[in-house]
Amino acid sequence: MKLKRPLLCKWCGEEFRATPGPGRPKQYCRSSHRQRAYEARRLGESRQLLPDEVIVSRRAWEALRDALYRLESAAEDVAVDLETGAPTKIDYVRALAHLSEAVRHLQEVSVEPVAIGGD
Ligand SMILES: [Zn+2]
Repeated sequence: MKLKRPLLCKWCGEEFRATPGPGRPKQYCRSSHRQRAYEARRLGESRQLLPDEVIVSRRAWEALRDALYRLESAAEDVAVDLETGAPTKIDYVRALAHLSEAVRHLQEVSVEPVAIGGD
């Protein structure tokens, strides 16, 4: 039996299952994502974006940048804390909690393109 890999939506990046049947393979998890991608591509064309270029809002960009910085800082904190002395189980639990908090913050960030370059 051949297992099909789950597909990744070209808009939101979430996994989705392909529905069997005729026609081209689906690229989006739902029709609203296909529509938003279409609109973003059209705006990208009007702005003459290159295929690897994307426009996002300043607010989304800053939120992502800040969340990544927070995660990077947490990773550095944890590395320093666990490399010094002889860390105990409690130290590892605290380190994991610190990292988890930074990851949760990153998970709350939503970055949706305003415009994307054509394929
Ligand atoms: Zn999607």
